[in-house]
Amino acid sequence: MAKRDYYEILGVNKNAGDDEIKKAYRKLAIKYHPDKNPDDKAAEEKFKEAAEAYEVLSNAEKRQRYNQYGHAGVGGNASGGYGGGGMNMDDIFSNFGDIFGGAFGGFSSGGGSRGGRRVNRGSNLRIKVKLTLSEIANGVEKKLKVNKQVNCHTCNGSGSKSGQYDTCRVCNGTGVHIRVQQTILGAMQTQTTCSSCHGEGRLIKDKCNTCHGDGIVRGEEVITINIPAGVADGMQLSMSGKGNAAPRGGVNGDLLILVEEEEHPELKREGSHLIYNLHISIPDAILGKQVEVPTIDTKAKIKIEPGTQSGKVLRLKGKGLPDVNSYVRGDLLVEINVFTPSQLSADEKKLIEQLQESKNFQPNPNKREKGFFDRMKEYFE
Ligand SMILES: [Zn+2]
Ligand SMILES: [Zn+2]
Repeated sequence: MAKRDYYEILGVNKNAGDDEIKKAYRKLAIKYHPDKNPDDKAAEEKFKEAAEAYEVLSNAEKRQRYNQYGHAGVGGNASGGYGGGGMNMDDIFSNFGDIFGGAFGGFSSGGGSRGGRRVNRGSNLRIKVKLTLSEIANGVEKKLKVNKQVNCHTCNGSGSKSGQYDTCRVCNGTGVHIRVQQTILGAMQTQTTCSSCHGEGRLIKDKCNTCHGDGIVRGEEVITINIPAGVADGMQLSMSGKGNAAPRGGVNGDLLILVEEEEHPELKREGSHLIYNLHISIPDAILGKQVEVPTIDTKAKIKIEPGTQSGKVLRLKGKGLPDVNSYVRGDLLVEINVFTPSQLSADEKKLIEQLQESKNFQPNPNKREKGFFDRMKEYFE
């Protein structure tokens, strides 16, 4: 299913400021809050959708990536096989602290639909993936061995030898300390995580010897990553649940994949266009010739017309890179440079001298190629 635009979801325009985005989200979060819409799946979806949009647009770095690359830039590209709607209710509620500032006691304390105990979350894991231009052009499946926290096999990630627990006496099993304060707005609740049980509400009776009660150990996992075609250097993809395992059987973190692009020996990239600098001889420029130019995976034949000027750009339609967010493919731009020799034999020099004053060899203002900036404007706007 295609994802809706994040700005559209929040009902703000692209230039909306942080305050406006926050306000818009707050309105939707109240409207679709599960406590207000019990057993309403549609409302829950809207609630999650708004939370995801806010998560991206409230973060300057993510918002910039989203503006540039769309959902793919923030790991939400449906075609890439990434768990886009990666936010679960716990993520959403844990972000409520900033948005409601604790003023909504009922909300920030988790509400009725959420259990009191905290669910542990594994940390996100960042890896880099180096890609050739050919891999970027075609999309690629990479199998990578990743060093990460995995569930302990001895205790199946529980951290407990026997599976027996004691209720935490500090928080009576709630996992939190709740404090009620009197303010001018009335009684306000604030809560903090219990430091004795780290919010879990219980303590392991007999810790597993392998992981010492953590439930996680260092290990390796081979992960298959589907890189969609058209990604660019510096883009970050995410796979939800493929990061570090959480202590004692919680929710795994995400795997964040930073794309690094290997430089192609001959082709330069400009967005989805590729640029190739072709050097031809003076006689070929004058008389014309068929030449070969490299493309990403093969070669293409192009025709140099007689009387070709240095600086002329030939455009090979669709021979560039795919765009990660659309079906449009960029072009290969071949910039022709005429090579001027600096060493000549006596005979060659004599021949050229005969041409030096010839009228046809004098630059003609009407037939010159465009300057650099005019060409850049023409090809990249
Ligand atoms: Zn263990
Ligand atoms: Zn406790």
